[in-house]
Amino acid sequence: MKILLLGPPGGGKGTQASFLIETFGIPQISTGDMLRAHVRDKTDLGNKAKQYMDSGSLVPDEVILGMMSERLKEDDCKNGYILDGFPRTMPQAEGLDLLLSKLNQNLDSVIVIKVDDDIIVERMSGRRVHPSSGRVYHVKYNPPKIENKDNETGDDLIIRIDDQEDTVRKRLGIYHIDTSPLINYYNKKGIVHSIDGASDISEVRNSINQIFSGE
Ligand code: AMP
Repeated sequence: MKILLLGPPGGGKGTQASFLIETFGIPQISTGDMLRAHVRDKTDLGNKAKQYMDSGSLVPDEVILGMMSERLKEDDCKNGYILDGFPRTMPQAEGLDLLLSKLNQNLDSVIVIKVDDDIIVERMSGRRVHPSSGRVYHVKYNPPKIENKDNETGDDLIIRIDDQEDTVRKRLGIYHIDTSPLINYYNKKGIVHSIDGASDISEVRNSINQIFSGE
């Protein structure tokens, strides 16, 4: 089972990927998480990627494709995977096709999670993070017990640079220009399922489950 989750940043791809992991027992491959680990570990790749990530731009295609060509060869990918945040541009989609054909694999399903920009901005600009643990809160939907303090340690919470409203708007602009053409690309292959991502998490989860129970 090889699934691609496509949708705007902050549209809930990561959350829904975690449910699919449970259902299918296959790994989630998130290029955003992989890049953040590189930045944290201060690898060459991480140092190269950081400036792009902080400003809300995309990391160059060749860096992403190099990282993914290694990742998809790993053992845990044999029975399938959930791609989250990759591909994000047409060259990445074409590069992925090339990688998959070398590995004798195909994508089975592309799930497009649709959410309006204003909803995304509200979701993302309310996010607060505890930097050392990665715990994530939301001022409205998942507030900490004490305002702006981590529940476990009492440390101050921060707004990730790439969650700030102007950066979020920039990332959404990039999504519409660079990433949304992929919907048409995969539509031509007949593997796209579109769902409404604006409803609450469990409803979105049900819509995705229905896709797979109907197949
Ligand atoms: P995410 O957590 O998926 O929203 O990714 C965070 C940031 O990592 C993005 O804003 C980009 O700077 C970078 N990034 C993640 N995945 C990709 C990708 N497939 N292509 C280019 N940049 C990416």
